[in-house]
Amino acid sequence: MKSLRHALLGAFALVAAASAHAADHPDWTQPEKPFRIYGNTYYVGTRGLSAILIGSSKGLVLIDGTLPQNAAQVEGNIKALGFKLEDVKLILNSHAHFDHAGAIAAIARDSGARVAASDAGAKELMVGGHYPDDPQFGEAPEYPPIPHVGVVADNGVVRVGDVAITAHYTPGHTPGSTSWTWESCEGSRCLHMVYADSLGAFTADGSDYRYSDPAHPERVTNYRRSIAMVAALPCDILMSPHPSQSDFLERMAGHNAGTQPDPLIDTGACRRYAAEGTRMLDAKLAKERAGQKAAP
Ligand SMILES: [Zn+2]
Repeated sequence: MKSLRHALLGAFALVAAASAHAADHPDWTQPEKPFRIYGNTYYVGTRGLSAILIGSSKGLVLIDGTLPQNAAQVEGNIKALGFKLEDVKLILNSHAHFDHAGAIAAIARDSGARVAASDAGAKELMVGGHYPDDPQFGEAPEYPPIPHVGVVADNGVVRVGDVAITAHYTPGHTPGSTSWTWESCEGSRCLHMVYADSLGAFTADGSDYRYSDPAHPERVTNYRRSIAMVAALPCDILMSPHPSQSDFLERMAGHNAGTQPDPLIDTGACRRYAAEGTRMLDAKLAKERAGQKAAP
């Protein structure tokens, strides 16, 4: 039953992510009451797009801002939890598409926070998504560029106060895709928190970008390495930029309802998320091969 449910959710996620227009996804702007996930980790996103807030001894870290038009909503969520916007000291990003990075310029300006991302991610953010190496270039809407973005190395650790967040480069969905991990504690119980980036393989309609391009064998090699990396992460609580892709809000609801075993804490969630990534990549590669055969 569980695997069927996951298969259905996976199919839904594939359809959801294939369209790049916010108007097709009312849940992307639908308000969600902000809440504590675990320890110092909070959810401040919308129903359909994640924004994660992490508290430290010296201010807050925000991961992702969601759509440009959601900036006030995310800022309102941070304040509704009792925090000050000026306490946001650092903003990180999963990948530099409008639905995750669109509001970052506004939130950085309003809070005074610095912004950091992977090497390629920083370049993508500074041009507001106008990045020809992005497989969805030309289709994914552009968004307000972020004037200055610092770089976190692969496996590099960013620190704010007593919080340490590790960057794991997971290129594939975009060149700069990054997954982030940290520990959150309640009393002496510390859990491995994982914000795994999207692992879906999508290209813009009409684009000549091919994941299977023989001139770019690194596209598939790096993608599979990213998927294997996510599968191998120590993983207690999995979150993802599109909460539906990791079943995150449903697992949270089960947690709040007292379901046993606690569905929020699921050490197999990263492996299943990675397996879904493999399925989506293989489906994309098969489609590209079929397209090549059909061409004259
Ligand atoms: Zn994306």
